[in-house]
Amino acid sequence: MTAQLIDGNALSKQLRSEVATRAQALKAKGVTPGLAVVLVGDNQASQVYVRNKVKACEDAGLHSVLEKYEASMTEADLLARVEALNNDPSIHGILVQLPLPAHIDAQKVIEAISPAKDVDGFHIASAGALMTGMPGFWPCTPYGCMKMLESINYDLKGKHAVVIGRSNIVGKPMALMLLQKNATVTICHSGTKDLKAMTLQADVIVAAVGKRNVLTADMVKPGAVVLDVGMNRNDEGKLCGDVDFEGVKQVASHITPVPGGVGPMTITMLLVNTLEAAERASN
Ligand code: NAP
Repeated sequence: MTAQLIDGNALSKQLRSEVATRAQALKAKGVTPGLAVVLVGDNQASQVYVRNKVKACEDAGLHSVLEKYEASMTEADLLARVEALNNDPSIHGILVQLPLPAHIDAQKVIEAISPAKDVDGFHIASAGALMTGMPGFWPCTPYGCMKMLESINYDLKGKHAVVIGRSNIVGKPMALMLLQKNATVTICHSGTKDLKAMTLQADVIVAAVGKRNVLTADMVKPGAVVLDVGMNRNDEGKLCGDVDFEGVKQVASHITPVPGGVGPMTITMLLVNTLEAAERASN
């Protein structure tokens, strides 16, 4: 079997065009959805991420503001900026790019963002909303994974999903989203004794670890759907995921590539969340 690719670029293109159409409709009512991206310090990877996010907003007709600050910015000053953005009616979504410099308490900053503008979905109120099935913003990466499953019309009811990784931004929210769609969910982590025994039972596997070849072909049940969240570099310095793509695609029914899989979907879902924040604010 050779797995079908779930193309994150193609799906993103489709969803971003839907965002652009909805943004136009809002603009006609006098509301331009706005995202503020706050970057503190000069982390190279963060600079690339924020540039991509701002460009994606502009391409979809959303208003975006990039605020860049020196790494020496104080926590109090950053909290004051967040508060100002909370009160700015032209801004519907606020994203503070992580990681923050060590002298700033990232959780404190995230908690300072108004839950109504928490388009990253990292606020405790957003996490609580996801856990209880209430309306709120879902973290973009696992939300993108759910959209990828939806794009292949995958019915999760009664299926066994195995999530590898339990971070607050990917693994845990991913597990909750799968659970909400009636999958039976297993969460694996660095303390899991026999990962292969778990993954071999899975109809759906989400790998969100940050280590190459965490999932190899011998660990996958024939016909399983495999979503690869990982972002790593191979020996040639090229971007690769957590999954041994060449091997696993011989066994899985569907697989996401890296690059061109979950990555573009993460930014797309940020646009979706920002648009939804603006729609909610305008209602
Ligand atoms: P993280 O916070 O470092 O979490 C990694 C998780 O993997 C932890 O729960 C850890 O377990 C678990 N783990 C480590 N080694 C393991 C092993 N050998 N077997 C099973 N589980 C293991 O990372 P993250 O923020 O969730 O990100 C995970 C990966 O996704 C990274 O490569 C990151 O760059 C990528 N990512 C991609 C996107 C995207 O847009 N494509 C977005 C976010 C993240 P413990 O909890 O026990 O330590």
